[in-house]
Amino acid sequence: MSYAAFYRHSIESPEAFWAEQAKLIDWQTPPRQILDDSRPPFARWFVGGTTNLCHNAVDRHLAERADQPALIAVSTETGTERTYSFRELQGQVQRVAATLVSLGVGKGDRVLIYMPMIAEAAFTMLACARLGAIHCVVFGGFASGSLASRIEDATPKVVVSADAGSRGGKVIAYKPLLDEALRLSAHKPDAVLLFDRGLAPMDLTEGRDHLAAPLLEKHRDAQVPCTWLDATDISYTIYTSGTTGRPKGVQRDVGGYAVALAASMKHIFDGHAGETYFSTSDIGWVVGHSYIVYGPLIAGMATIMYEGLPTQGLDRQPDGGIWWQLVEKYKVTVMFSAPTAVRVLKKQDPALLKKYDLSSLRALFLAGEPLDEPTARWISEGLRVPIIDNYWQTESGWPILTVANGVEPTPSRFGSPGVPMYGYKVKILNESTGEELTGPNEKGVVVIEGPTPPGFMQTVWKDDERFVNTYWKSVRGKMVYSTFDWGIRDADGYYYILGRTDDVINVAGHRLGTREIEESISGHAKVAEVAVVGVADNLKGQVAMAFVVPRDGAVLGDAQAALVLEGEVMKQVSDQLGALARPSRVHFVSVLPKTRSGKLLRRAIQAVCEGRDPGDLTTIEDPSALQQIRQSVDVSR
Ligand code: AMP
Repeated sequence: MSYAAFYRHSIESPEAFWAEQAKLIDWQTPPRQILDDSRPPFARWFVGGTTNLCHNAVDRHLAERADQPALIAVSTETGTERTYSFRELQGQVQRVAATLVSLGVGKGDRVLIYMPMIAEAAFTMLACARLGAIHCVVFGGFASGSLASRIEDATPKVVVSADAGSRGGKVIAYKPLLDEALRLSAHKPDAVLLFDRGLAPMDLTEGRDHLAAPLLEKHRDAQVPCTWLDATDISYTIYTSGTTGRPKGVQRDVGGYAVALAASMKHIFDGHAGETYFSTSDIGWVVGHSYIVYGPLIAGMATIMYEGLPTQGLDRQPDGGIWWQLVEKYKVTVMFSAPTAVRVLKKQDPALLKKYDLSSLRALFLAGEPLDEPTARWISEGLRVPIIDNYWQTESGWPILTVANGVEPTPSRFGSPGVPMYGYKVKILNESTGEELTGPNEKGVVVIEGPTPPGFMQTVWKDDERFVNTYWKSVRGKMVYSTFDWGIRDADGYYYILGRTDDVINVAGHRLGTREIEESISGHAKVAEVAVVGVADNLKGQVAMAFVVPRDGAVLGDAQAALVLEGEVMKQVSDQLGALARPSRVHFVSVLPKTRSGKLLRRAIQAVCEGRDPGDLTTIEDPSALQQIRQSVDVSR
């Protein structure tokens, strides 16, 4: 079937289309109704069906591939490498599940996971799925402030963590960050389960903290059956940044997600049972949920979980070839990474790519940020396999725009992630009038018309109103889901993404809200006002840059004092939010560019920082404010 026909079928007959896809997973009870769209924009998929993500990812494979590799955990930080077969994975997951049960966890309870990229993190996610507990994984690079706000929102019964993560050989102790977060949070979990990797000492709080090892040992041979869940029950929440400082808990279902992932593994990633999938993402991000843990395993593939930099070997020495070494060793067929990571590798000797036998690899998928042409060309020439850009969001759970080579081989175009995936009614609208832009290369907001396909977020955790108001009411007069991305479509239907319409920035493929960073900075006693914008960066795509009005004007004329305050502000952000959010520079100005109604002109600031025309400034209150921004950026260049 041509992709065009496949796509058309998904849009014209969604129920027939998805009923067919639903056969890709195991159901305990088959769905009674494929789609309940009676309360838009809430789409309920596979109503009446019961299933379980862990069953589909692990147990169902035991019949045919019990002894085949399922999880391959590689850490170039600790120099360790271990393969778990599906049978072993099931054993490990049951041990963690029994341990969680012993700590009081049951169906619907939240378990917050704050862990490095170790196999135990995947065991824990799968254990939650097995029990019907809702996992909420928080990226290990976040610091106590970010962690505390997520603990408060998720109200977990149990928090699962580890003594430490490690990055580039530098140990990052998690326990003190977690303790501080638990101190800050109004919600206190009943228990904290801790995996000790022997990297950093841990102070245990009596009655609350439990070391995992003795409990796992106690449940060594535990048999914990999968709890059959309604397709529309909640599988997990994952926090993402938006326009406000408060992160949103993106909530996902069970059945729709399982079907969406199984379908994407077949039609988009073209991955087959018995092969190996390698995604270089982190379990703290949606890619890690969908394409490190659940997607590949549901498809019966082995998945590589990699802890470490792309430029460090198993002997912990610099090695720009480690990924390719893993591709060769484990005969990876499908690989998934981010443009930023490839840009890091681009600095290495290109001969490294030739050193390994990469003949198993069929495609490299890149997502998370715009893929620039030089990066795409470099890696395409090096690997000689299709480089497939794919555009999606935490909210969607799986690609919105890409090419579905599993349906019909389709050429990619540089600069474009591709065409709408089956199930997605993607449109481009004029932001202020809501009018649909149908002509080629007309710029507007990329939106999705409901009903959204399976796997898409169900709602914002505990806040249906926020879900509707944030996502479905941003375009005048139309109830459509806004991606908050600008885009155009060419005459052949290929889309091009042109950046965010809101205050979200993308640092090394990671989504951050400038408001969150601003809130952290304005908490500093010496800061009167602050604006944070994302500025183009050759390596990371974007970096955060802060403009601060200090309380004490003397800082403006005192380079030494400015340097000290810049350091303090950066540290504050690192401590509260994590190093990822730390601004690359903090500039001091006497006034910030605002409209007369007091709205910060972030886009104008960003344009000036990037040496572009700031556009229409008729509403600016004090034109000298932009002049100051220009000067401070010029001086630092
Ligand atoms: P996240 O929710 O962290 O996955 O971030 C989603 C955002 O990242 C999107 O709204 C886009 O702004 C950006 N993004 C993701 N993938 C791509 C891509 N392939 N091309 C351009 N931008 C992308």
